[in-house]
Amino acid sequence: MKRILVTGGAGFVGSHLCERLLNEGNEVICLDNYFTGRKSKISHLMDNHYFELVRHDITMPYFIEVDEIYNLACPASPVHYQHNPIKTIKTSVMGAINMLGLAKRTGAKILQASTSEVYGDPEMHPQPEHYWGHVNPIGTRSCYDEGKRCAESLFVNYHDSNDVLVKIIRIFNTYGPKMEPDDGRVVSNFIVQALQGQDITIFGDGTQTRSFQYVSDLVDGMIKMMDTEDDFIGPVNIGNPVEFTMLELAQNIIELTDSKSKIIHMPLPSDDPTQRKPDITLAKEKLKGWEPKVSLRSGLVDTIVYFDELLKEKATTIKVNN
Ligand code: NAD
Ligand code: UDP
Repeated sequence: MKRILVTGGAGFVGSHLCERLLNEGNEVICLDNYFTGRKSKISHLMDNHYFELVRHDITMPYFIEVDEIYNLACPASPVHYQHNPIKTIKTSVMGAINMLGLAKRTGAKILQASTSEVYGDPEMHPQPEHYWGHVNPIGTRSCYDEGKRCAESLFVNYHDSNDVLVKIIRIFNTYGPKMEPDDGRVVSNFIVQALQGQDITIFGDGTQTRSFQYVSDLVDGMIKMMDTEDDFIGPVNIGNPVEFTMLELAQNIIELTDSKSKIIHMPLPSDDPTQRKPDITLAKEKLKGWEPKVSLRSGLVDTIVYFDELLKEKATTIKVNN
């Protein structure tokens, strides 16, 4: 049995990861400051003696003995990471230093949840890991993009200078059950709007593209990456390479929810990337047997069922975050 620390464990991805690691027979410590995470996402795990929940902010050092660390703590939705940009940078950079220090002291292996945002508004399509990106260092997304880029540098340097066992994954847009209705990202916004008959808010003309990955495919990839040989540190893209425009996404969601919602257009936020699609050749080669299994339509169906039940439970109108 391994003892595993998951930072950001009460968030969308972290809550799925904690559950999966527990089911695989590990002891899991979930650490979160509840900025965007919720206890309700992991409350069903609280009766398990091998699960522990800790309220802590990773910008402060944390001491524990563990075998592995998954470093997920960081708001991921643009509305949330732009709410307090300096705090976002501190979480990425000071959080990485604190967690890498913990890994160095204990000899734990540590995985960083990096992002496709390190590619910025990419001029190379699809994006392979060797592409260095096209990021505006002073733009509205820079607190997140540059914070994550600096964290990647810290991970590589703790590996090279201090022999810490590190793994870096670059996650592309991921969605699924346990997203918050006010998360602000596109999939949850469109589903919540469609289910309530509200206008579906497309930013810009809707021709920008994203490649959407279902959360179970991401969790598979994370665990497989942690289990790769010590000399493979990444970075490696984890995403689903099937690309959609935001207009196509909205049309799929309207159809699957049988909604009467109409599409409206709102201004495109600054520095919004025009296209995103992972090159997953490296992941398929290194993460034995991994490839995305869940199609967008089938993942959307499960996510729609989740939001439908949530909205019925809340029995009040929800306004999305945009
Ligand atoms: P999320 O916002 O649901 O989860 C982030 C979690 O981190 C939340 O529980 C939040 O409370 C916690 N947190 C934030 N700041 C913290 C701090 N200073 N100390 C302790 N906890 C803190 O987001 P998510 O979608 O679950 O993303 C998880 C990770 O994966 C993030 O690091 C994100 O950057 C990365 N990622 C996600 C996606 C995606 O599409 N979901 C894409 C790329 C990268
Ligand atoms: N988007 C949109 N309407 C919304 C929320 C987002 O059209 O209500 C667009 C957004 O401008 C971007 C895409 O959807 O082009 C994906 O946005 P998201 O916030 O999910 O992630 P990111 O931009 O970080 O990939």
